Amino acid sequence: MRGVAGEVTDLLRHLIRNRCVNDGTPASGEERRSADLLEAYLEGPGLALQRYEPLPGRVSLVARIEGSDPTAPSLALMGHTDVVPASYERWRHDPFGGELIDGEVWGRGAVDMLNTTASMAVAFRRLARSGFRPRGALLYLAVADEEALGTHGARWLVENEPDAALADNVVTEFGGFRVPLPSASGPKYPIMVAEKGTYWCTLRVRGTPGHASMPLRADNAIVKAAEVVRRLASYWPETTLHDTWRRFVASMDLPAGVAGVLLDPAQVRALCEADEGLGRMVHACTHTTFAPTVLHGGVKTNVIPDTADLQVDVRTLPGQTGSDARAMMAEALGDLWNSVEIVSDAESAATASPVGTPLWDALQRATRALVPGATGVPFMIVGATDARFFRRAGSTAYGFGLLSERISFAEFRAMFHGDDERVDVESLRLSEELWEAVARDFLG
Ligand SMILES: [Zn+2]
Repeated sequence: MRGVAGEVTDLLRHLIRNRCVNDGTPASGEERRSADLLEAYLEGPGLALQRYEPLPGRVSLVARIEGSDPTAPSLALMGHTDVVPASYERWRHDPFGGELIDGEVWGRGAVDMLNTTASMAVAFRRLARSGFRPRGALLYLAVADEEALGTHGARWLVENEPDAALADNVVTEFGGFRVPLPSASGPKYPIMVAEKGTYWCTLRVRGTPGHASMPLRADNAIVKAAEVVRRLASYWPETTLHDTWRRFVASMDLPAGVAGVLLDPAQVRALCEADEGLGRMVHACTHTTFAPTVLHGGVKTNVIPDTADLQVDVRTLPGQTGSDARAMMAEALGDLWNSVEIVSDAESAATASPVGTPLWDALQRATRALVPGATGVPFMIVGATDARFFRRAGSTAYGFGLLSERISFAEFRAMFHGDDERVDVESLRLSEELWEAVARDFLG
């Protein structure tokens, strides 16, 4: 394969084979391998490279093409090099083989987000080699540890090396799939302008220890915890049509009936309950969510447990705080709320960047040039990405990309941290051309 598509494909296959698997422990990831690869690939005239290694093996790379005007706004293209684990037995092909099969590259990270990390590197290198002289600086960041809260990657860079790593504008994951709704005016691609916040907490449920041979009416912490889990899982908080949601619906150019449904809380709830496909995404976008994820309790088969610890992953909407999350859990648990104690919690608020910025306009122009009639529409990521650190530091940060029609929204969503992750070569080409066009438009 030749041209930029071949170049991105080769680089992506190497990144996948480097298997920088982040299991959440500080010693995992070993992103040094992919930092080495990208450093060797980028090295050359027209750019400066710097490595950062806050922990052994956790290397992030920052490449820079200096701007001609120090007052002009800078732009960073940012990808992460780590991936989440994969269970071999559930995949049709080796998740770390980086195989090219029928025009698709297979492997963990193919859409989250080594495809973007690779296509951004190719665009950056081509710009540097072509003698591109931007007005504001152009940065390329290949960061470690995104899959474990960015502690040893983007967050570390923003806190410890802001002069080197911060930019006025940032593009990172994710986006680029066609929104599967009937727009009257051409294909629509989400530009991620916001992301939900997190409130992670551990609830301790108490009981009274006793002999397990007489369980009748025992005060069993695990039995109580099971009821806590059941109430959280069936809790339906208020449907909230926040600003980004309303802007999204307005920009989609939908038939009046569809737009009407999406702007009415009662009908949105009905859609979430009924629609197998879009329902889960719409639900996460318009509700605070509560996912019980870890439960520990009990010490011995014949002892009634006196303690159970339940971890809950709460995702908050724009404007909500930990105290809002606690109030909703109290409502969900009702009389059981007094039997639980929050023994630890961590709060990270939702973030957002405005639409209609110069970067927003540049993304729109580049998208339209590559996909005739296409428009970017504002949307909110329901998870968390490295964009939040840059937004909090004052940058405008968006999640974007461009995928071919070969990947549907449903497939794209299922492949994130899922099985059989893969990306087609045409999507890699589109993304590379997108980054090159955006950099030339925005900084040229
Ligand atoms: Zn990612």
